[in-house]
Amino acid sequence: MAESVELPGRLAILPFRNKVLLPGAFIRIRCTSQSSESGERSSNVQVSTSDAHKVDGKNPSEVIHWHNRGVAARALHLSRGVEKPSGRVTYIVVLEGLCRFNIEELNTRGPYCTAKISPLEMTKSGYFLISIFYLLTCLEMEQVEQDPDFVTLSRQFKAIAMELISILEQKQKTGGRIKVLLETLPFHKLADIFVASFEISFEEQLCMLDSVDPKVRLSKATELVDRHLQSIRVAEKITQKVEGQLSKSQKEYLLRQQMRAIKEELGDNDDDEDDLASLERKMQNAGMPSNIWKHAQRELRRLKKMQPQQPGYNSSRVYLDLLADLPWQKASEEQELDLKAAKDHLDCDHYGLVKIKQRIIEYLAVRKLKPDARGPVLCFVGPPGVGKTSLASSIAAALGRKFIRISLGGVKDEADIRGHRRTYIGSMPGRLIDGLKRVGVCNPVMLLDEIDKTGSDVRGDPASALLEVLDPEQNKSFNDHYLNVPFDLSKVIFVATANRMQPIPPPLLDRMEVIELPGYTAEEKLRIAMQHLIPRVLDQHGLSSAFLQIPEDMVKLVIQRYTREAGVRNLERNLAALARAAAVRVAEREQAVSVSKDVHKITSPLLDNRLAEGAEMEMEVIPMGVNSHEISNAFRIASPLVVDEAMLEKILGPPRFDDQEAADRVATPGVSVGLVWTAFGGEVQFVEATSVVGNGELHLTGQLGDVIKESAQIALTWVRARVEDLKLAAAEETDLLQGKDIHIHFPAGAVPKDGPSAGVTLVTALVSLFSQKNVRADTAMTGEMTLRGLVLPVGGVKDKVLAAHRYGIKRVILPERNLKDLVEVPADVLSSLEILVAKRMEDVLEHAFDGGCPWRQHQHSKL
Ligand code: ADP
Repeated sequence: MAESVELPGRLAILPFRNKVLLPGAFIRIRCTSQSSESGERSSNVQVSTSDAHKVDGKNPSEVIHWHNRGVAARALHLSRGVEKPSGRVTYIVVLEGLCRFNIEELNTRGPYCTAKISPLEMTKSGYFLISIFYLLTCLEMEQVEQDPDFVTLSRQFKAIAMELISILEQKQKTGGRIKVLLETLPFHKLADIFVASFEISFEEQLCMLDSVDPKVRLSKATELVDRHLQSIRVAEKITQKVEGQLSKSQKEYLLRQQMRAIKEELGDNDDDEDDLASLERKMQNAGMPSNIWKHAQRELRRLKKMQPQQPGYNSSRVYLDLLADLPWQKASEEQELDLKAAKDHLDCDHYGLVKIKQRIIEYLAVRKLKPDARGPVLCFVGPPGVGKTSLASSIAAALGRKFIRISLGGVKDEADIRGHRRTYIGSMPGRLIDGLKRVGVCNPVMLLDEIDKTGSDVRGDPASALLEVLDPEQNKSFNDHYLNVPFDLSKVIFVATANRMQPIPPPLLDRMEVIELPGYTAEEKLRIAMQHLIPRVLDQHGLSSAFLQIPEDMVKLVIQRYTREAGVRNLERNLAALARAAAVRVAEREQAVSVSKDVHKITSPLLDNRLAEGAEMEMEVIPMGVNSHEISNAFRIASPLVVDEAMLEKILGPPRFDDQEAADRVATPGVSVGLVWTAFGGEVQFVEATSVVGNGELHLTGQLGDVIKESAQIALTWVRARVEDLKLAAAEETDLLQGKDIHIHFPAGAVPKDGPSAGVTLVTALVSLFSQKNVRADTAMTGEMTLRGLVLPVGGVKDKVLAAHRYGIKRVILPERNLKDLVEVPADVLSSLEILVAKRMEDVLEHAFDGGCPWRQHQHSKL
């Protein structure tokens, strides 16, 4: 800042069109020359002489409205840019505003304007300047400074300027230098400097320029500074608002926290209370063991710190929900076990199964005497629909415990039992923990259904996890990967079911006590249907025996013609189909039915008229207090619907099975009837053999396993080795397969088959084929055969005999050593069958053909 200025009487004038360079302010001007000469010329300019309008190529006098005041400026810096190829050169001049002057006389001729001037103001130190005017100004300045108005104005200005500075200081940290200026410079100068730093309109700048009087200038500057301050404040407010919006979620979180604290303080727990608080309360009531409670609290603290939108919040929440929902201690109260009642309950729910019920009662008795005894895990093995599940639920009912069924069919992944670790997306607990959460008590009867259907693959072995579950030593602290804390399963009573024992891994089988449920005989099925299934089905369809009656004969027909299963599931389904059809008829007839005598009739004149016309119309009043049962009685149909054979066919379709099947299929040589054992119980299996022209090869079809294929090989070899003994070919023909291929097929082709028990059936079919004698259609057989023709015992005899009975077979050939198994077969089945014993293959053949072995017949015919 200039301390003293000595102005010449004439100055070069640089007109600005929209800017005023106020004293104390700096300005940088960029000007480009028209040609190299003009550039030369402007470089001579020393004090604010560069003429922008000349540079623009315009005559200043033509375009400029001349103001009669100006500010003297000093060029602080002048730099020359690189000359462009066009010859143009850019100059940059930095000017400093010094003081105001009056234009006395303007000269616009010449390359730039000049003016004769007179200064308007002066610094104090400028008083030595010779001009009297200057001296006067200087003296005036001193006087002005004494002026109380000026003093007040200065104070006001200073205050507002300080305020502005402090705001700028906060924002840009640049206030320090300005503060020093405020302390050192006289106010009338400061006014210019402050105003020069704002964006104000050209008119206002001119007004400042014209404010020669320091008082006027100060008040004008105060006003402008104040306005600037206001605008900064408004801008600040707006920014704050925007910022506030940005952090709305944070604000919300804070407010929620506060609200929670307030609610806690007030002990306020109304319905819409915070859901984390309710979770916490649920956790407190869950009765977790102390170490798990600590773990849960840690997790809860972590959750509380999270935002609901944060990843991981939800999974943490779901996890804690599970912890809180699990029945750590909650148990159904075990009633004093009444064995008599339990027995009645079992009898009431299940027909027959005497031995099995007895075993269950024994099991319950042990539990009664020693409630914490680690009894064996019962495993019911048998075909579908024989009552395994319903027996397990009866055990739960007898013990007064809740029942939960966990299906293990098709479980191949260990994680299905043990859960996925929480690090995986979509992880969840295993089926056991999930089941316990659903049942809500820690001591339910848990049915592990279809335990034989678990398999193992790359994803681990579910059976090994089940081992831990069923082992009383280990299941006290069952570790589910998702739960990640041990859970005590020792109070759970496990019961398992399986269709077959063979696929169950031996270590697992070792931990269970197997109770086999064979299929039912037709007689048993009839009893089950009459006593249990029909009443249940009728009830399920809103019917009663008053609406529908299914006579025993018809049930028998359903059993014989429409179902051929070991259990009673299809039977139940067929009965349900009858009930559905009856329900439709009853519903239709109900509308046309006459009301019973208990129902009051009401008539009206209108009705009377209608009735008189012969129209059928009745209304009823149902007395108050009559329950729905009575209402349905009121609608009782005069005669219930009785199912007959025609109706059976109409509803269930033509019969699906008949006893003629075996006779039809065995009508040609080369077919024999075998008995096999499947997951669905015993089955009748036909074996078909035929020969075609070929090279002595054996073809086997019908989805056969390795063992059954080998049996076929053995059978063929045995038959070939005995061609002569069996007289199967003419004397000169020693090789049965000369020029022939043999094809053996096991229908149904889509069902996989395996096992050695088809050995005798295969030989019989081949002998029948080569001897061209039919096998007896009423005879079925089973047995493994050795290469030397010995008949070995096989498994599943009971089921096989029952299957033969179902198919209407009259004679069954069994290995001698299987005779002991017949004690399990119900007496009524045995009495209707002829059991034939075979020690050797020849015995089988003897029984299988009409009139004994074919070769004997051969011999007879020769004789
Ligand atoms: P599984 O579990 O062996 O496949 P379920 O227990 O589901 O068979 O039984 C199928 C249906 O048959 C059930 O409605 C069941 O009550 C009934 N049932 C099976 N056996 C008997 C029986 N001995 N007495 C009464 N109902 C039976």
